[in-house]
Amino acid sequence: MAQFKSFLVFGPNGIGKGTNAKAAGKLPGYLHFSTGDMFRALVARVKEGNASELELRIDKTMKSGGLVDDQTTVDLARQNLESAVADGSFNPETDYILLDGLPRNRKQAEMISDFIDVLSVLHVTASREVAVERITGRAKIEGRKDDQDAESVGKRLDIFFNNATDILSYYDSAFDGKNEFDSEKIHYIDANQRPAAVLKDFLEYLV
Ligand code: AMP
Repeated sequence: MAQFKSFLVFGPNGIGKGTNAKAAGKLPGYLHFSTGDMFRALVARVKEGNASELELRIDKTMKSGGLVDDQTTVDLARQNLESAVADGSFNPETDYILLDGLPRNRKQAEMISDFIDVLSVLHVTASREVAVERITGRAKIEGRKDDQDAESVGKRLDIFFNNATDILSYYDSAFDGKNEFDSEKIHYIDANQRPAAVLKDFLEYLV
């Protein structure tokens, strides 16, 4: 199978990476693909009381702030992308995926390399303190359950920062562990800027 060309949008939860990836994904030729959105759509039926065992398990994991297991995540991502090709919303010959939320660890990075070619990484980042502040703000506006629980928020950020160096060094072995690291493969984007400035940086790397 041909590999899907992608830009990996990478950074801690809550600092606006998803918002920008979503905005850029509105442009023809780009598909915003978020595994968080994929899972949220999947567990929507839990509230209706007719969810499958898998959906219930994913719902529980998400509420705790933990990660869904690697095989389930990668299999579902692949199925979703293949459906996007089948229904014409993504043309692998000409289009790019804006990959958001995957990989979350080095194992996933290895697993997706079979079908996703990460051309470069847009590393949208800020300190942990800024991330906590922004997530708390978002919880009030969007009412996301997993953002309202401080323990879950803390756990997600711990997982992110614990795995970030592993993932970034997978894509560029020269990665030195610093947020500001910038290379051919990894582009540093400062999430402390105004949202429009972050989007401008995004687009600069995409064109
Ligand atoms: P997000 O919207 O990216 O913060 O994702 C919300 C939740 O979905 C996460 O806290 C995880 O429980 C789950 N999730 C999203 N992406 C992944 C992934 N690549 N691997 C495992 N779990 C994931």
